[in-house]
Amino acid sequence: MIAVVGAGPAGSYAAYLLAKQGYEVKLFEEHKEIGSPIQCTGILTEGIKTFFTPKKEVITTTISRIKVHSQKEQVEFKLQKPDIIVDRTLFDQSLAAMAHDAGAEVLPWHRFEKKEQGKIIIEDIKNKTKKAYAPSHLIGADGPNSHVAKSDHMKGKRTFFYGAQATIKGTFDPECYEVYLGSVCPDLFAWVVPENEHYARAGLASFSHPHTYFQAFLKKLGSPSICACQGGLIPLYNRTIETEKEHTFLVGDAAFQVKATTAGGIIQGITAAKALEEAITKNQSYEQLWKKALQRDLWLHLLIRKAMNRFADKDYDYLLHLVQQQRMKKIIEEFPRDYPSRFMTSLALREPRLAYFAKFLMGR
Ligand SMILES: Cc1cc2nc3c(=O)[nH]c(=O)nc-3n(C[C@H](O)[C@H](O)[C@H](O)COP(=O)(O)OP(=O)(O)OC[C@H]3O[C@@H](n4cnc5c(N)ncnc54)[C@H](O)[C@@H]3O)c2cc1C
Repeated sequence: MIAVVGAGPAGSYAAYLLAKQGYEVKLFEEHKEIGSPIQCTGILTEGIKTFFTPKKEVITTTISRIKVHSQKEQVEFKLQKPDIIVDRTLFDQSLAAMAHDAGAEVLPWHRFEKKEQGKIIIEDIKNKTKKAYAPSHLIGADGPNSHVAKSDHMKGKRTFFYGAQATIKGTFDPECYEVYLGSVCPDLFAWVVPENEHYARAGLASFSHPHTYFQAFLKKLGSPSICACQGGLIPLYNRTIETEKEHTFLVGDAAFQVKATTAGGIIQGITAAKALEEAITKNQSYEQLWKKALQRDLWLHLLIRKAMNRFADKDYDYLLHLVQQQRMKKIIEEFPRDYPSRFMTSLALREPRLAYFAKFLMGR
């Protein structure tokens, strides 16, 4: 039996793929309702379709434009391939349903407690009972604070952004989301992502004081009325995190497979789940397979993030000033943002003045 802990996108997709291959799979989720509480904005690039096409019912809106603000500049990009915004509860539930339909046993309200002497202890929260299982493979898809990783003493330094988000009421363009760079949120950026004409998800993420930055950001947006608040940890990619140890594997946020530029991790977790299926079915190294698919780009995202974290507002202004040229915009609009390795060189070759930013790669 394969035990998957966590019915987020990475765990459910891994459970789906492995059940489809004929393995006996149990998918344990600690919450009573899969996909709840929401701790995400739900932005997905076209890249998701490499794996599956999300059902219409889970999509709240389709994005054709992104408006990026720095202190003095503003640039609008028209996406050649639109992003979609999903309802994370419905999205996670649809993935768990895929796993169930493929033959996995989906067990909400079941919490992984620990691993001892080769067995895992699962608490049935509803019935207040505990049961031991001896799986052939243990998959930790249990998010940033992975208990599976802790229980198996998997090595690596774990650093997080703290995300703060609220559903706000107002008037929004349902096809455009906005990004705010610079001192408004120096560690990452702030965003306003529409759900429809009347509601949007406003948020930001920071290494410290997220609520202070968030209050100031809401003020900047004109203190809109707030319908709901969400928040959560976002792992900062670190290549030293151990993701495979004997028969235990980490996938998704548990493995820190998150883009450091945007804090997006859904497609990366799903990519790693696919690598894990291949590793288990072909008896290959999971670590080698997921790294082949993701590591170069995750590393580049981290490098860009570290450089940007040294920018002052005037540097963001200069960056937007350069990328608003048509020849630069075209590259950004055409290439998939998940994979900077596919367009960074083209950008640098088209605009030699980008060399100004090289100093931030080395530190000052
Ligand atoms: C504010 C915010 C906004 C974000 N916006 C985006 C975005 O727009 N696009 C994007 O791609 N990414 C975004 N992310 C990141 C994204 O949410 C994660 O990368 C993604 O959810 C990771 O999926 P996962 O399956 O690895 O983990 P999770 O989605 O965290 O799922 C882990 C699951 O494991 C369960 N679990 C935990 N512990 C146990 C246990 N002991 N036993 C059983 N079950 C357990 C949890 O309940 C949860 O259901 C955002 C994150 C935050 C915080």
